[in-house]
Amino acid sequence: MPGGRIGRYPDGRLNGELVDRAKDLVTLPPAAPPDPAAVLDEMAEEYAALNSRGLTSIRYPGGPPEQYRAIEQLRDQGRLTLRVNYVLRAPRGANAQPLADALATWPEMGEGDDWLRVGGVKLGVDGGFEGGLMREPYEEPWGEGGTFRGLQTVPTERFIENVRELHRRGWRVATHAVGDAAIDLVLDGYEAANADAPIDGLRWVIEHGFLPRDDHFPRMRALGLSVTAQNHLYVAAPSLVKYWGAQRAAWTTPVRAYLDAGIPVSLGTDSPVVPWDPWWMLHHFTTRGTISAGVLDPSQSITREEALEAVTRSYAHLTFEEEEKGTLEVGMAADLVVTADHVLECEDPCLESMQVDLTVVGGRIVYER
Ligand SMILES: [Zn+2]
Repeated sequence: MPGGRIGRYPDGRLNGELVDRAKDLVTLPPAAPPDPAAVLDEMAEEYAALNSRGLTSIRYPGGPPEQYRAIEQLRDQGRLTLRVNYVLRAPRGANAQPLADALATWPEMGEGDDWLRVGGVKLGVDGGFEGGLMREPYEEPWGEGGTFRGLQTVPTERFIENVRELHRRGWRVATHAVGDAAIDLVLDGYEAANADAPIDGLRWVIEHGFLPRDDHFPRMRALGLSVTAQNHLYVAAPSLVKYWGAQRAAWTTPVRAYLDAGIPVSLGTDSPVVPWDPWWMLHHFTTRGTISAGVLDPSQSITREEALEAVTRSYAHLTFEEEEKGTLEVGMAADLVVTADHVLECEDPCLESMQVDLTVVGGRIVYER
């Protein structure tokens, strides 16, 4: 089906797997409405866990307006222990409500304060590991005779139309793109918006950007784009090798290539797709080590200084907050982390299990070992 795939065994029987938009075929019984107070308590607990591993700020790459309102309540109760940049998720799927209807229920772009702010809108154009849109066919043929190139989850015309509409309304756009052909499509959409009015300087984003090609870099630079990269390869390397082949898998999230091409990169984890521990992620990008497939293309590793920069100053830049946080100096927010070992000098693989001794957000101790 368009934008989705229904999994089958080689003999044609259904195997129970629904990929991307094929999930739209299933309606689950409505869940009981959660108790609002319990939702806030759970969130506060979750944020405390993040603090304990040294997180002082997070960015949600695409969530519903209801969740934003819940975080707002937590903030108003004085219980927020980390700063949140919230990106709203645009409606997706075949029967999605028109974008304009959804926008009417959202907070305003940029609304908020130092603790919680609306950072933009997230769109998507392709699937994930098993559906990233590729220029070349997948290694595993999925019973389609080696012609499967992944899934485009939105028609091209509609994507471009939505991007232009969001730009007209002043929204900053961030788009999920995994495969190289997905990045082609995102760049086409962003260039169309840029032709209406320049987007350079607005810090639009490509989320994930797993498989950039050389011809993408100058186009990204011309639009002033940033890329966010996460350590999917760290946990999923064996699957990526199986789906995409060893060469493409090894090229996944080539942060060295991005930085060398002058494209700013912010590093994160894509939790809950990848476990959220930031130290696993820092280990991965500085070594290209994975959990169960060894080291993949170590030439794409970055230095520890570059990795630290990518989770502090670069991330603050991505969210237009580089004047307030991201460096430790007079006049900046007192957000800081004390680690048990020296982050720049300890011996590999020390980062992977780094102990956090103290986390401070806005001058207040939010975690102490
Ligand atoms: Zn995504």
